[in-house]
Amino acid sequence: MSETTKGACFCGAVEIEVTGNPEAMGYCHCSSCRSWSAGPVNAWTLFKNENVKITKGINQVGHFKKTEQSDRQFCRACGGHLMTYHPQWGLMDVYAATIPGQTFTPAVHVFYAETVLPMKDGLPKMKDLPSEMGGSGESVPE
Ligand SMILES: [Zn+2]
Ligand SMILES: [Zn+2]
Repeated sequence: MSETTKGACFCGAVEIEVTGNPEAMGYCHCSSCRSWSAGPVNAWTLFKNENVKITKGINQVGHFKKTEQSDRQFCRACGGHLMTYHPQWGLMDVYAATIPGQTFTPAVHVFYAETVLPMKDGLPKMKDLPSEMGGSGESVPE
C-alpha cells in the first residue's frame, strides 16, 4: 500500500487524495500561474494522473482551459484552486498548498525568466522548462 495524502479546496466542498510521492516538486514563476493564482510564485507538485483522485464534490469541480496544455481545476463553490492537468505529460500539478500534508521539497524553479519575486535559495533556475518537458533547458542566474 502506498501512502495517501488528503487535500481540499478552501471551503472543503471538494476533497482529493494523492497516492505515493510526486514525480517532481518546485516553483513556477510564469505569468500565467501568477495571473490565475493571484500569487507571485506558484509551488507545484507533479503527480501521475492516475495517482490523483477526487474523493468528494466532483460536481463542484470547475475546469478552465485557456490552452489545451493546461486544464485548470477549481472549486465552483469557493473559487479555491485545486490542481492543473497537463495532458501532454499525463501529469497533474497539484498545488502544494492544496495538499499541506505532503512534505514539500522543491528541486527547481521554472520560468524564472518571468519572475517578479527572485528567490535566492541555491536551487537551479530554469529560464523556462527542462528540455525533456519541451522547454529550452537553459538556466538563468538567481
Ligand atoms: Zn471550495
Ligand atoms: Zn506557471
